[in-house]
Amino acid sequence: MYDIIVRDADVLQFDGDAPVLLPRHSIAVSNGRIVRIAPRVIDEPARESIPARGMLAIPGLINCHAHTAMSLFRGVVEDVPIEAWFNDYIWPMETNLTPEDVYWGAMLGIAEMIEAGVTCVAEHYFSIHAIARAVEESGIRANLAPTIFSGPDEAKHLAEAVDFVNRWNGAANGRISAWLGPHSPYTCTPDLLACVASEARRLRVGIHIHLSETAAQVAESRARYGKTPVAVVRDAGLFESPALAAHMAHPDLHDVAILAAHNVSVASTPKTEMKLGIGVAPVTALRAAGVTVGLGSDGAASNNDYDILEAARLLSLLEKHRHSDARVMPLGVALRLATSDGARAIGLGSVTGELREGLAADIVLLRRKAPHALPVHDAAATLLYSARADDVDTVIVAGRVLMRQRRLLTIDRRRVLREASRRAIRLTRRSEARVALYPTHQG
Ligand SMILES: [Zn+2]
Repeated sequence: MYDIIVRDADVLQFDGDAPVLLPRHSIAVSNGRIVRIAPRVIDEPARESIPARGMLAIPGLINCHAHTAMSLFRGVVEDVPIEAWFNDYIWPMETNLTPEDVYWGAMLGIAEMIEAGVTCVAEHYFSIHAIARAVEESGIRANLAPTIFSGPDEAKHLAEAVDFVNRWNGAANGRISAWLGPHSPYTCTPDLLACVASEARRLRVGIHIHLSETAAQVAESRARYGKTPVAVVRDAGLFESPALAAHMAHPDLHDVAILAAHNVSVASTPKTEMKLGIGVAPVTALRAAGVTVGLGSDGAASNNDYDILEAARLLSLLEKHRHSDARVMPLGVALRLATSDGARAIGLGSVTGELREGLAADIVLLRRKAPHALPVHDAAATLLYSARADDVDTVIVAGRVLMRQRRLLTIDRRRVLREASRRAIRLTRRSEARVALYPTHQG
């Protein structure tokens, strides 16, 4: 007997970068994995049967870079340049966060992600144990990297991060993987980066870091170290482990060659980058050089939502606009960034990211009944350019149904909304304290 059979859905797969639709197929799930995809109704018994006639089945979307608990700061500071955004607003406000706040903020963000068809998130934040608890309870899949900054307590924070990795890597039946998260080369000294690199090698885990976010950061790094942020991080040894570089808006040609040679992946977060006016990763050029790129949301303080379909849509439009060429970033490539390439970027390419037998049953079903989604001439076009987050009907992660007919089954939605609203006002208090200092640039 199967655990779940999704019956009669249109199933999205890929042939290379081309989307392929399998019409009216059924998907059988056992022990958390897809065990069969068949071109008809599978007649065998299942513990749970999900009728999906007319629905589109897609691989769960992958959010490759998030600060999920920052949902609590959604919309708190707008139209402000990045230096003031960090130093005058976000880093002072984040000193107010307790682990309980982080837990409820993470739950709010995870609820939003599940409702938008996101089944896996790469998280970079502090109070990471509270986030791990939210991930464990909600049933979402996650790669968790505790954020580390330089400062008087850096050795203690690194030791705590190592403890976290030992405790959580592979936890929740393998749904949780744990990496190390040095914040960036502008908030971590080369010495600290080298210590993190050596711990990552010892633990055999990856690194998740913010890198080359703005042109000013690159100029500052050249002035201070005589090399780009990418070269600083490489020389500290961080690229000797699997590495995920968030943003990467300003690599030069030499940087791109370094990323490709070391198999470093990039998480592009186009909405945040456009909104802060800092530039968006040259994704088409990175991919052409062989760099794996996934999509992220960053925190909701800058991105305002955790909608990865929106990120794919924005990036596709942006790349066509950048190159003045409609052929750039075709449908299948944009959808792969949000699914299989995203999974590979965070070290989970053999686990999730596609609807294939043997991979995890991370499955999203979308309704296509509303005016904005009909008629369906091309299912991939409908998905990328017309679908809305609330077209998502059902979400399955590791063979467990987390949402059915838009009802969350593992999260007390009303309580999450209440707790988040109740905490939000207190968190906006700004004192002299900051979690870190963003370097200010001259001229
Ligand atoms: Zn970030």
